[in-house]
Amino acid sequence: MYSERFKKLIPYTPGEQPQNRKYIKLNTNENPFPPSSKINDYLKSVDISRLQLYPDPTAFKLREAIGNYYSVSASNIFVGNGSDEVLSLCFSAFFNNAEGPVLFPEYTYSFYPVYCSYYSLNYTRVPVKKDFSLSVDLFLTSPAYTGIIFPNPNAPTGIGLEQQEILKLMDSVREDVVVIIDEAYIDFGGTSSIPLIQKFDNLLIVQTFSKSRALAGSRIGFAVGNKNLIEALTTVKDSFNSYPLDFISQKLGEIAVSDTAHFRDITERIIKNREYTSFEFKRLGWEVLPSQANFIFTRKKGIAGKDVYDALKEKGILVRHFNQAGIEDFIRITIGKRDDMEFLLDCAEDLK
Ligand SMILES: *Cc1c(COP(=O)(O)O)cnc(C)c1O
Repeated sequence: MYSERFKKLIPYTPGEQPQNRKYIKLNTNENPFPPSSKINDYLKSVDISRLQLYPDPTAFKLREAIGNYYSVSASNIFVGNGSDEVLSLCFSAFFNNAEGPVLFPEYTYSFYPVYCSYYSLNYTRVPVKKDFSLSVDLFLTSPAYTGIIFPNPNAPTGIGLEQQEILKLMDSVREDVVVIIDEAYIDFGGTSSIPLIQKFDNLLIVQTFSKSRALAGSRIGFAVGNKNLIEALTTVKDSFNSYPLDFISQKLGEIAVSDTAHFRDITERIIKNREYTSFEFKRLGWEVLPSQANFIFTRKKGIAGKDVYDALKEKGILVRHFNQAGIEDFIRITIGKRDDMEFLLDCAEDLK
């Protein structure tokens, strides 16, 4: 009754989205601020007869708007139903088991091994340095590999990778290997590698509207790269679902990427709150990894990560705990509004 593919699946476990009790949600890196108010104006004016028709399968206007923002052509942009879908299509289009494993960091986005299980790909977790930052050299010493993927800044650590390290990687990697940089959190302080696609035909950048654009509910993700890579992704998409983005989401993405003033405002507030929260946690004796994202990764000597998670949940705050050896005593805390951070700090102060 079940396929061989199905029998091998190990699905991703998303952070909780509780529908009953009201929690302060600091567990899935959603934006604490609402999206552009222009979205509200648009939604009030939607013509429902438009729902009778299929949306534009190429999402051209959205791709054009994203292209304008990053000064690249629409032919360099691919869009999908959340960057999770875009990433999945990348694994399908660019990675071949026969060439070796997919490489990704030891501690990273836990969806990558899930895609490997889905597409029957082997993978190697490349060790991180003692301070949890990525080591480009260790990626490059791997004997054989079919592709490389890592988030910048990395998740769940929040640590960014220097542009010069990325250049070193791109200069040394085989030209027929696609390198995917998952920039889900790049807008919170990192330097995007999008300009590098002009120089490297095998570099693909993936981003999302779920975090910095405050549109997790709309499921909009995109990839930026050489047009041959974009065409390959389009072929895979059209072999699976030609219309991954409904017409409303396409329009919301267009509006969001064009409202730069609102985007800057909410992003700056999150960065400020992150600096405040990191400083205060350190003052209370917690170790906080240096974050360029909209979350911090922190631990305190003498308290198990799971106990911190449980104690905070008891107080009505949801954070994320990963049961993985080496990071099991950390918790990942999404940066919320200032008063939520103050309440969190009060609770953290009581933890023994
Ligand atoms: C949140 C996240 C994504 C997924 O974003 P969606 O666009 O909401 O699917 C991808 N990669 C990383 C590293 C993330 O943290």
